[in-house]
Amino acid sequence: HAKQNGGNSQMCFSPAMTEQIQQRYALESALANAVAAAQLQLHYQPQLADSGQVIGVEALLRWQHPELGAVSPAQFIPLAEANGQIEAIGQWVLQNACSQLQQWQNDPQLAGLTMSVNISARQFYLPDFVGTVQQCLQQYQLIPELLILELTEGLVLANLDDAVARMQQIKQLGVRFSMDDFGTGYSSLSYLSRLPFDEVKIDQYFVRSGSSANPRDWVIVDAIIGIANTYGMKLVAEGVETEAQRQLLQKSGCRCYQGYLFARPAPVAETEEWIKQQYR
Ligand code: C2E
Ligand code: MG
Ligand code: MG
Ligand code: MG
Repeated sequence: HAKQNGGNSQMCFSPAMTEQIQQRYALESALANAVAAAQLQLHYQPQLADSGQVIGVEALLRWQHPELGAVSPAQFIPLAEANGQIEAIGQWVLQNACSQLQQWQNDPQLAGLTMSVNISARQFYLPDFVGTVQQCLQQYQLIPELLILELTEGLVLANLDDAVARMQQIKQLGVRFSMDDFGTGYSSLSYLSRLPFDEVKIDQYFVRSGSSANPRDWVIVDAIIGIANTYGMKLVAEGVETEAQRQLLQKSGCRCYQGYLFARPAPVAETEEWIKQQYR
C-alpha cells in the first residue's frame, strides 16, 4: 500500500506491474464483449463409473478471442467474478448447458447422462438465483435430478447459513449439488456432514499425490473418501491422468472418475461421438 511507503499517497508501479494492469484491463474489456460476440463455447468432459460406463459430463467454459486466442477459464473467471461480468457469463453457461441437457434427454443413446455446471459465488448469491434455476428447469423441461451444480467450499463457507438455505430451496426442485475441489480450502472435513451436498469432487492435487513423491497426502484422500461414503455422498475424482491413480482411488473406495486418462474436455459433437463409442 502507498501509505505504508512513507505516507505518500502517490502510487508507484513497476513496469512489470503496469504491464499486468494493462493486460488485465485489455482482458476485461475484451471479455465484456465475449457473450455478445459469440466467443464463448462449452466443452464437455465425461465422468465414468468403475464399469467404464459414462454417467455424466462436466461443462467447462472456453473463450476464444480473435486476437488473444484461447483464454483459460482459470484466468478469466476470477476476473469476471471480481468485476461482475460473471453474472451474464454464468447465465449464458447455465442456459447453454441446460439446453444441451435437454437434447441429450431426448436422445436414446445419451438419455440419463448428468450435466454438471460450475457456479461461481457471485452467481449463486444473486437474489433470484433460485428462480433462475427453476426457470431453466421449466424452459428446457429437464429431469431436475440430471442437473448438478458445482460449488466450491469457499463459496459455501463464506456465507454458511445463507448458502445452505439457498441449496435447500434448489434441492427441493430436485437439482443436486456437488462440492468442487474438495480438500483445497480451509474447511475441516467435519463440515461435510452439515452441508447438503450430494456429491464431492476430490481435487486433482490430491489425486496426483497418489503417484507423486508425497504419499502422505494420500491419507487425506482416504479420509475424504471414507467420510463421503459414510454420509452417502457420491464421489468423483477429478484430474485422473494415469491408470495407477485410478486403481489407487478405486482401492480407497472411489467409484467415479474424470480426467485425461479417459477424455479431455471437448466440443459437443466430439463428446457425443466419444460417449456413443463407450459401453453404456
Ligand atoms: P474445475 O471446475 O475444477 O474443472 C476441472 C479442471 O481440470 C478443468 O480445467 C479441466 O479441463 C481440468 N482437467 C480435467 N481433467 C484433467 C486432467 O486429467 N489433468 C489436468 N491437469 N487437468 C484436468 P479448465 O477447463 O481449465 O477450468 C478451470 C476452472 O475454471 C474450473 O475448475 C472451474 O473452477 C472454472 N470454470 C470452468 N468453466 C466454468 C464455468 O462455466 N463457470 C464457472 N463459474 N467456472 C468455470
Ligand atoms: Mg468443476
Ligand atoms: Mg474441480
Ligand atoms: Mg479446479
